[in-house]
Amino acid sequence: MNIPMLDLKAEYELLREEVEPAVLAALAACQYIGGPNVKAFEAEAAAYAGVRHAISCASGTDALLLALRAIGLQPGDEVITTPFTFVATASTILMCGAKPVFVDIDPGSFNLDLVQVAAAITPATRAIVPVHLFGQPVHLAPLRALCEKHNLMLIEDAAQSFGADYAGCKSGAYGDIGCTSFYPSKNLSAFGDGGLTLTDDDGLAAELRVLASHGSRQRYHHHVLGYNSRLDELQAVILRIKLKRLDAFNNRRIAIAEFYNRLLANLADQIETPFADGHGRHVYHQYTILSDRRDTIQKALTTAGIACAVYYPVPLHQQEMFAATHGHIRLPVTERTAARCLSLPISPMLKDEQIEYIAGVIRSALK
Ligand SMILES: *Cc1c(COP(=O)(O)O)cnc(C)c1O
Repeated sequence: MNIPMLDLKAEYELLREEVEPAVLAALAACQYIGGPNVKAFEAEAAAYAGVRHAISCASGTDALLLALRAIGLQPGDEVITTPFTFVATASTILMCGAKPVFVDIDPGSFNLDLVQVAAAITPATRAIVPVHLFGQPVHLAPLRALCEKHNLMLIEDAAQSFGADYAGCKSGAYGDIGCTSFYPSKNLSAFGDGGLTLTDDDGLAAELRVLASHGSRQRYHHHVLGYNSRLDELQAVILRIKLKRLDAFNNRRIAIAEFYNRLLANLADQIETPFADGHGRHVYHQYTILSDRRDTIQKALTTAGIACAVYYPVPLHQQEMFAATHGHIRLPVTERTAARCLSLPISPMLKDEQIEYIAGVIRSALK
């Protein structure tokens, strides 16, 4: 039985009847840029997230870059973030000429260690960028208190957590700006690239729109250095259809995670199953286990035709890209996690018998 990490084919079959005519209609309507589906998707996403403004852009990376530019990040500024994430969380800080400051993670949630965040604040700190890694909401209330005390901006990287809840807010709606991605593997995904920023602040929303359209407030008048970053009309058609199913898909991910937890419970001496820290609704973008025998498990799964992946094998403070600023620091919890983590297939389309099969292969590998 071959099992992929994420079964996009099964998902496509489920959506085909609704997606194909809608895409063809948008093709025939010929409003490829800034068309009615982009506007409708922005309104629907803002309503879903419970914020005043949702501004679409070309990718999750652009969403982060636009957010950092919108708060006025300057060379010499520092931004505190996690080293255990996808590179875009911190490369966008470098793109603004600012310095990412990596602090260690909490060993249970894999998210920023809040005590270390407080200790890393300096007079140069301008913002904190928490990542809701693998779909688990960061405990944001203490971070907001820190931001208020030190006059910092809170920018959520919600690329892996769209649809998660924290303190009565949707992921991305709690901070000053929330950023998400519609890359095909994400919980809400397009058939290509796409991204979104969320904010309740009218001024930041206006700035985000100006920056995404060549720094222009008035057509052919360019006020600041901006970008060309737009969500495609065809992707907006697909995202509108999928947004209606997001909660159902996320609920299925949660049920799959609970099933894995039960099946792996008797291996507790060799495997740590994901720890939901209770600070919100975890939507399991990834189901990630920890084990000293990670490589043995990975080999057995691969041999059995089951996909699995190490997210992330090299933490950002050890990446060449950040060597100039971070080559010397040690972040022991992050490094130990990177050496022991393994993400198992999780997809709303995964069937119970596939999950039982995966757990069975892991069980025999560890015998
Ligand atoms: C996917 C991802 C991004 C970047 O999104 P793209 O749409 O691929 O540019 C940023 N941060 C995190 C945590 C991600 O997982």
